[in-house]
Amino acid sequence: MIDHQIIIAIDGHSSCGKSTIAKAVAVRFGYIFIDSGAMYRAVTLYALRHNLIIDGEVKREELIGALPEIRIDFRYNPERQRSDTFLNGENVEEEIRQLTVSQNVSPVATIAEVRKAMVRFQQEMGRNKGIVMDGRDIGTVVFPDAEFKLFVTASTEIRAKRRFDELKSKGENVSFDEILQNIMERDRIDSTRKASPLRKADDALVLDNSDMTREEQMEWVIRNVEEKLEGTSSKFQVPGSR
Ligand code: C5P
Repeated sequence: MIDHQIIIAIDGHSSCGKSTIAKAVAVRFGYIFIDSGAMYRAVTLYALRHNLIIDGEVKREELIGALPEIRIDFRYNPERQRSDTFLNGENVEEEIRQLTVSQNVSPVATIAEVRKAMVRFQQEMGRNKGIVMDGRDIGTVVFPDAEFKLFVTASTEIRAKRRFDELKSKGENVSFDEILQNIMERDRIDSTRKASPLRKADDALVLDNSDMTREEQMEWVIRNVEEKLEGTSSKFQVPGSR
């Protein structure tokens, strides 16, 4: 029996299904799932509501000054089998997924002070392990010693199509082109920023899921996590105890 817990870090490009994978892995192993992107989205929503972003320009110093006023927490929603994101006590799970937030989040996430505050909170949540976290810098910065690291990617067009279908099904009035532009722009900003740019950790496994079904991906990921758990559990065992 595997009774020790590890940290599972999932990074990758925008809209490649990281959260879906992370959630399934968390449910399978009984781990906590944290979507770190939701935290950057919540900060962005706060900034938008307080006029700290005007026409795409972030009022950097004012936002940094407001950071102590921004409280983010996650509360488990049994219906979705994952946590909802709360901003200063308000459930903002739906609102942070809207395109306006997606269009403004990456510039906010370039601000080193914002990242520092988020990373501190994320590391705190992973203190007892047994956690799956997805984002852009989880395996490189937040948990560089995570036992299992995954880097997920897929072609830009396929990612845009998936996100377009998802937003359409929620009734959002969006065009395929604006989604495609947004994904390309977020990838560009996330990969080129100075503070913790998106990159694959040297010891991460790569999953390109462009041509994989959801089931194939899950099977592949779960198998690899199980192998890792078996490998790490032998380190904890007294020789000959099996
Ligand atoms: O994962 P999601 O697409 O919801 O993340 C939204 C944005 O938050 C990303 O485009 C990226 O700019 C930022 N982010 C980040 N570091 C993370 C998670 C998300 O910079 N760990």
